[in-house]
Amino acid sequence: MTGSRIDKWIRPEIRGLQAYHVPPARGLIKLDAMENPYRWPDALLDQWLDVVRQVELNRYPDPSAASLKQHLREAMAVPEGAEILLGNGSDEIIQMILMTLADEQRSVLSVEPGFVMYHMIATFTDMQYIGVPLQDDFSLDTQEILHAIEQYQPAVVFLAYPNNPTGNLFDKNDVKKIIDAAPGLVIIDEAYHAFAGDSFMDEVNNYDNMLVMRTVSKMGLAGLRLGLLAGNPAWLNEFDKVRLPYNISSLTQASAEFALQNRDVLNAQTDQICADRELLYAEMQKIDGLTVYPSQANFVLFRTQPGKATDIFEALKGEGVLIKNLDKAGGLLKDCLRVTVGTPEENAAFLAALKKVL
Ligand code: PMP
Repeated sequence: MTGSRIDKWIRPEIRGLQAYHVPPARGLIKLDAMENPYRWPDALLDQWLDVVRQVELNRYPDPSAASLKQHLREAMAVPEGAEILLGNGSDEIIQMILMTLADEQRSVLSVEPGFVMYHMIATFTDMQYIGVPLQDDFSLDTQEILHAIEQYQPAVVFLAYPNNPTGNLFDKNDVKKIIDAAPGLVIIDEAYHAFAGDSFMDEVNNYDNMLVMRTVSKMGLAGLRLGLLAGNPAWLNEFDKVRLPYNISSLTQASAEFALQNRDVLNAQTDQICADRELLYAEMQKIDGLTVYPSQANFVLFRTQPGKATDIFEALKGEGVLIKNLDKAGGLLKDCLRVTVGTPEENAAFLAALKKVL
């Protein structure tokens, strides 16, 4: 009975999906989710607890999160004239953007391989998704993208800069050609900005169809769930209309503000992660049978011998190390695995396990 009602009423696109799956990591070295591996020093934790103690949990949060936005503006160098919209993670910002633009005749364009939530949320909001393959070296196929823009006239183009899961920054001039050609909006998703040398933030006022998205997740605050969109206030005012009231909790507002006031600690962790990424990359390159891709993010993508990725992934788990298996996504990701940069000890354990299972 229930089944037939579900078949009748749940949209077939949703029936065909799997819920976002996060594999259990208990007891494993967790290098699957691009988290910062470092906790705060005890003295800072104590100061944070004092801040949290003052939060009035009986009251709703500041609906506009004005004070937090001011700190983010400074920390993220958001230019004067640009506005900020906050989301419960940048995932929620993608959802707000697509809810505002959604129409079944309209499309969302991105690249493949790319961040899966662009496609997922396009499906949730009943929009068409166009995924243009990257070239074999993971650079943009600008000709193909311009061709697809011409053909599909997408309402929005998402480009992650650096890209997940490939880790590279795209050629900036190619991105600009795409912004110039796009009939609608272009979102530059700078989730991994902390680990990369470049950004579009300082160009956000130069275009009327480009906005920059950031998150605090990869900077070491994944547990807070806080993302932001920066740019032209006219666009942001529209997205603000579909934002649910009080979407940023009091605990997140107070904690993020405190963390940004102490961002030297986060920045030092990020510097350490970047240095360790280079060491990890160099060590992985020495291992026979792997193709390892350079990264401007806090993870490293690598390709195994054909047909071996899942065995290696499972064997690593058996050795106590959890990474991400991308092989089943197919296309350019066939035979690919992705490891997040951990602490030096975690990276050493991963390398030892990898050498053992190969
Ligand atoms: N964009 C990209 C490119 C990502 O890789 C991720 C997280 N994996 C996100 C956005 C979402 O980040 P969050 O919702 O944690 O802010």
